[in-house]
Amino acid sequence: MSTGIKNGKHHTFNIYIVILFFLFITSPTSSSPANGIKEEKHRVIVIDAGHGGKDPGALGSISRESDINLAIALKTGEYIQQNIKNVTVIYTRKDDSTVELRDRPKIANKANADLFISIHTNSINSKKVMGAETWIMGYSKDQQNLEVAMKENEVIYLEKDYSTKYGGFDPKSSESFIMFSTTQKVFQEESTDLASKIQTEFRERVNRSDRDVKQAGFWVLYNTKMPSVLVETGFITNPAEEKYLNSKEGQDYLASAIFRACRDYLNEIESKSSISWEKNQDTAQKNDTITRVNSQTGEILFMVQVTTSVSKTEIKPENFKGLSDITEIFTQNRYKYAAGNFPDYSEAVNYRKKIDTIYPDAFVIAVKDNKILPLHQALEQKRKTQKN
Ligand SMILES: [Zn+2]
Repeated sequence: MSTGIKNGKHHTFNIYIVILFFLFITSPTSSSPANGIKEEKHRVIVIDAGHGGKDPGALGSISRESDINLAIALKTGEYIQQNIKNVTVIYTRKDDSTVELRDRPKIANKANADLFISIHTNSINSKKVMGAETWIMGYSKDQQNLEVAMKENEVIYLEKDYSTKYGGFDPKSSESFIMFSTTQKVFQEESTDLASKIQTEFRERVNRSDRDVKQAGFWVLYNTKMPSVLVETGFITNPAEEKYLNSKEGQDYLASAIFRACRDYLNEIESKSSISWEKNQDTAQKNDTITRVNSQTGEILFMVQVTTSVSKTEIKPENFKGLSDITEIFTQNRYKYAAGNFPDYSEAVNYRKKIDTIYPDAFVIAVKDNKILPLHQALEQKRKTQKN
């Protein structure tokens, strides 16, 4: 009898331990308000090593793109996992296996990821071209941009029934890109920020030639429901760069650059990026800009970002294809220029359409209290205030 009681107690104790354990593993980031610790959000980052398996990607003289991508992807994930708190890294592939292009965004969406980073190596019909560039999803009428996207999308041909699986999408036709959904539009600002940070790291810390942030229709970025970028780490067709991309040092540096950009991006999301509104030479215009933005404290305004540049452009209509209502925003070491100023999102969208012929890559951004607010957050806040 006494044994039975002991066993019973022991059993209860075990259950208690099990419950505690479950509480611990199921809510690793939550903390009770009683202990006064601020709740930290758990983040999920999906790292996609481009190509793999039956698709080697671009070919160099000593290596294959898929192997370089995998090595850099795994190192990036390692750096992130070891150095950023409350983060889970998910890989679309961890070895030389075949993953269909359309499954890669699905993996990220299913995991409800906060970031999607696709890692690639560039190629071109010239041994001279070198440097790193980071892509975000967008419409591009630029032939060179389209060519990079088409190359990365081309693997679709290797898959059976590609025309059914990809809804008639033809990677060789630029018209196909028009049918891309606008899902990524609401993440364009955040994707650009992350992409800019990656490029800055590449340029300043890894001594890479900076080919800037660009946009085009990449299948792999097209259907993700989170900020997403595609990194072209360098040219496999440039002998020196191919050597660098295959070296342990090169891979380490590139991976740590991507990691630092992610870390800074996440830190900024936590503390909301602060933007210094550029002072114009023209005092009237300067006051106008600042007053206009400051005078509506707490209100969300929509603008249409037309260009981003590492160098400063003087604000005058001839520098902006005739547009006069331009605001300059300096952030992430880059100058952003936005046109218009609308309290209503649909007005900004209409304005974007209106200037589509002169600025086909333009997109809508949201501004609140002198800060750029992620568009999806802005739309959510608008919806809430309209309901009340
Ligand atoms: Zn690639």
